[in-house]
Amino acid sequence: MTEHEIQDDIHDVDILITGGWVITLGDEREIYRDGAVAVSGTKIVDVGQAGDLAARYRAGRVIDATGKVTIPGMVNGHRHLLCAAKGAMPEGTVTLDALRRFIYPSFASLSEEDMHTCALHATAEMIRFGTTTFEEPGCNHLDSVLEALATSGIRCRVGPWTWDQLGPAGSTDLPDWLNFDTRSALRRLEQGIETVRAFGNPRIRDAVTIEGVGTCSDELTAGAARLATEADSLAVLHKATSEREVRLEQRVFGHRPVEHMYRIGALNERVLLNHVTSLEEFEVAYLAETGTRISQNPSSALKLAKGTTQTGKWPELLAAGVTMALGTDAENVSNFQDICRAMFLAALLPRDARRDPNAVSAEQALEMGTRGGATALRVDDVTGHLAPGMEADVVVFDTADFDWRPLHNPVANLVYGATGHSVHTVLIAGEIVLDAKRLTKVDEEALREDVEKIDRRVLGQIGIDPAGTWPVR
Ligand SMILES: [Zn+2]
Repeated sequence: MTEHEIQDDIHDVDILITGGWVITLGDEREIYRDGAVAVSGTKIVDVGQAGDLAARYRAGRVIDATGKVTIPGMVNGHRHLLCAAKGAMPEGTVTLDALRRFIYPSFASLSEEDMHTCALHATAEMIRFGTTTFEEPGCNHLDSVLEALATSGIRCRVGPWTWDQLGPAGSTDLPDWLNFDTRSALRRLEQGIETVRAFGNPRIRDAVTIEGVGTCSDELTAGAARLATEADSLAVLHKATSEREVRLEQRVFGHRPVEHMYRIGALNERVLLNHVTSLEEFEVAYLAETGTRISQNPSSALKLAKGTTQTGKWPELLAAGVTMALGTDAENVSNFQDICRAMFLAALLPRDARRDPNAVSAEQALEMGTRGGATALRVDDVTGHLAPGMEADVVVFDTADFDWRPLHNPVANLVYGATGHSVHTVLIAGEIVLDAKRLTKVDEEALREDVEKIDRRVLGQIGIDPAGTWPVR
């Protein structure tokens, strides 16, 4: 073989992440101990042994991942951008009170400019902790949100905040904000799809977003599911989020929330239900039968005392093959946007609840945080695992710290021990958006100042004093 021929076998790529563990979440769920990922343009071109890839590719940039752990970008299956004042939500509130007393009024106080800042801050936080794709379950000022999403570089599904306030909870205590009748609510959802598609960013897909915690009529709920199917989109709503919501629907409809959705024909594989912390076994069967997707939000469930360990059916949902994402919900009902911490809770809470150490495995938790989440959001055609042809959404963890060492089984260390603080490098569609723990596309410090300024104004507007119970001197 001449020197010229040898050189012809070496292909130019943009980025080669090489050395260290690579957990692919590929079809065989293969893990490389000394692995590499080659990236060209927006896509992964090869995944395999570091030595093999070194012989095949010449990279514009080599990311030395020796001693590190590389995984597919994580997916946050439920994250509101429409939120403010983390840590200021009054303590001692449960779901329906928290919504009416704090969350809806603070949402309503955010201007278009505020929304842009909040969206940029939230997406920056997600990227910092290794999330490359998320679902926004209904925002306001969609245009400015889209601009912020494009600036941050994140991948997502997004749509406009929509309700008709004609659901089983009635309209009592709901803010006089974004009021629509059923017809205009459906029109708003269609316009949301049109707006997202017209924006034309390949990383941003539309969602048919209705609120759903007792605030939407059956006509709107079924209409959203239908629209998602017709428009090749994903309907997203909150459902079975607390025992109080369940009891309310039983009183009004005579059926539980998921059961009621099944009866009105609003469950299908283009529907994603957020929370579902209260289910019966027959509802698990309905979700499996219809191919409905769900997101589990363990930190939100714990903070709002939803009873997820008592009325949740997480092991049964996994056993039934229901596609499940993990989410962190709005920032005040979670206070972190770290899917590593969500994986920890999703793996361990069901074990205690069932007194069964095999209730949910570390592998199942990692799957929910990555490939399962991508499937739940219907973006698994482009992201969720590391394989040639997939978009290059990649996270590299720094393992040079006590949470990761000793390192014998990276899945166990990741799920049980690590947090997103150890995320070192993040690529989205081949673009380095976090480099050595620094965000490359936004000014973190400036964003923090802007967000705190907005928070102070919003808290004043809605009359909430963020102080805790201890005196501040
Ligand atoms: Zn939510």
